[in-house]
Amino acid sequence: MRKLRHFINGEFVDPASGKWLDVFEPATGQKYAELAAGSAADLERAVAAAAAARDAWKNTPADRRSRILWRIGELIERDLDLLSAAESQDNGKPVTLARSLDIPRAAHNLRFFAAAATQFASESHAMEEGAINYTLRQPIGIVGCISPWNLPLYLFTWKIAPALAAGNCVIAKPSEITPLTATLFGELCNEAGLPPGVLNIVHGRGNEIGTALVEHPAVNAISFTGGTKTGADIASRAAPKFKKLSLELGGKNPTLVFADCEWRKTIEQTVRGAFLNQGEICLCGSRILVEESVYERFVADFVAEARKLLPADPALEETRHGALVSREHMEKVLGYIELAKQEGGRIECGGERVVVEGRCREGWFVAPTVITGLSMDCRTNQEEIFGPVVSIMPFRDEAHAVELANGTPYGLAASIWTGDVGRTHRLARDIHAGLLWFNCWMLRDLRVPMGGMKQSGVGREGGFEAMRFFTEAKNVTVKFA
Ligand code: NDP
Repeated sequence: MRKLRHFINGEFVDPASGKWLDVFEPATGQKYAELAAGSAADLERAVAAAAAARDAWKNTPADRRSRILWRIGELIERDLDLLSAAESQDNGKPVTLARSLDIPRAAHNLRFFAAAATQFASESHAMEEGAINYTLRQPIGIVGCISPWNLPLYLFTWKIAPALAAGNCVIAKPSEITPLTATLFGELCNEAGLPPGVLNIVHGRGNEIGTALVEHPAVNAISFTGGTKTGADIASRAAPKFKKLSLELGGKNPTLVFADCEWRKTIEQTVRGAFLNQGEICLCGSRILVEESVYERFVADFVAEARKLLPADPALEETRHGALVSREHMEKVLGYIELAKQEGGRIECGGERVVVEGRCREGWFVAPTVITGLSMDCRTNQEEIFGPVVSIMPFRDEAHAVELANGTPYGLAASIWTGDVGRTHRLARDIHAGLLWFNCWMLRDLRVPMGGMKQSGVGREGGFEAMRFFTEAKNVTVKFA
C-alpha cells in the first residue's frame, strides 16, 4: 500500500505516532493509500525545521527566490500528465479537468508569484514638514497554509506561492481527503532547489494537526480556505493570539439570467458554472435566478444541457462529470436533495446516486440535479451544498433579482447574464459579493482581489493583496529639515 508521508526539512518522514489514515479513490470507493496521521509532535518537528530555515530564506535575494519558484512551476508543467492522473484519482474529478484546469493553474500560481517576488514594492510618502515616510514590508516569519479538497494542488499552491515569494517559511496542511498531489509537490520542491525547511507539509486530521498548527505560538499567520464553520473555529483560536488571518470560506452564489442575455451562450455557461468539478467549486452558482418572462424556457433548456453531463469513470478522456470526493460528502449532498423534496422542491433531473458500471461500481457518483419550486428562505436555498445541485427560481424585475441575490448569509461570487450595460453597473454596485462576473464565469486574472464578504470570508487573496497579507508593514519616518 502506498504511504504518503510528511514532508519536513526536505525529507519524507513517518508520523511520530506511527498511526496512518486511509485514503480512498472516490471513483471506485476503494482505499488506495495510507496517510501520515499527524500529531503535535510532527508539528513541532516542522516548526523546528522552519525556524532553522527562516533567516536564510528571508535574506535570500528576491531574484533567487523567484528563480526557485519559477523552476517549481516548470516542473509541475513537466509532470502535467502524472499530476493530473494523481489529482483525478485522489479527488474523483475528470482527468481532463485536472489536465486543463487544476495542474496548469498550479504551475501558473508558482510562476505568477515568482514574478511578484521581484515586482512587489512598498510605498513612500513625502511630508511638507520636511520628512519622508517609507514602508518596509518584511516577511512575517513562519506561516500556516490550510487548504481544502476540491481543487487540491490549485488551492494549495495559491497560498504557498505568495507566502514563499514574500520570504516566509511555510507549514502547509492539505486536506486529509486529498493529500496526494501535495506530497508529490514536495518532491518537486526538492528538485527545484528549495532549501530544506522552507516549505514543510504536514498531513492529518483538521481537528488534530490543523488545530495544533493554528494554535502554535511560533506560527504568526494563518491562511485558510475551507468551510465557514471551520473558518469560525480557526478565527476563534487564532484571534486571541493576534495572528494575521486570511479566511476564504463558503458560498451560496447566485446566477442571474435576464431575458436580454445571449441565450445559447448563457445556457452553456450557466450549466458549466453550476456543475464544473461536480459543483465542488466555491465559486459555482447554486441559486439560479431567472427573469420570469423566460423562466419556463430557461428551465427546459438548462435541464436538457445538464442531462448531457453523464457521470462516468473520471480516468476516461471523454468524461465530463466525475465522482464526489468522499462517501460522507456524497451522503451530505443526497441528504440535501431529500431535504429539498420535503421543502416542496421538484426534481427536474438527477436527484440520486448513480451506479457507473465496471471498475467504478462502488464509486460515489451523483448526477447533475436541478430543483425548482423552492422558496428563497428554505434551507436548500440558504445553506451551502457544495455538490452538483442547483435550485432555479424566477424573479420579477431587477430590484427583485437583487433582493434574492443578496438574501443569504454568504457573499462570495455572482454571475450575471444580460445585454444591458447600464444594468451591469447597477448590479455591480448593488450585489453583495466579492467577485462579480458579467456574461462569463470564473474568468480569473490572478492580479485581482479574490475573496468574499459576509460569511464567505475575511480578507482577499490574489496579486499584491496576497503579498501584503504575507508581509508585515513597518513604517519609517525620517525628518530631514
Ligand atoms: P473544511 O473546512 O472541512 O476543511 C478545509 C481544510 O481545513 C482541510 O485541510 C481540513 O482538514 C482543515 N481543517 C478542518 N478542521 C480544521 C480545524 N479545526 N482547524 C484547522 N484546520 C482544519 O472544508 P472542505 O475541505 O470540506 O472544503 C470545502 C469548503 O471549502 C466549502 O465550504 C467551500 O466553499 C470552501 N472553499 C472556499 C473557497 C474560497 O476561495 N472561498 C475555495 C474552495 C473551497 P481535513 O480535511 O483533514 O479535515
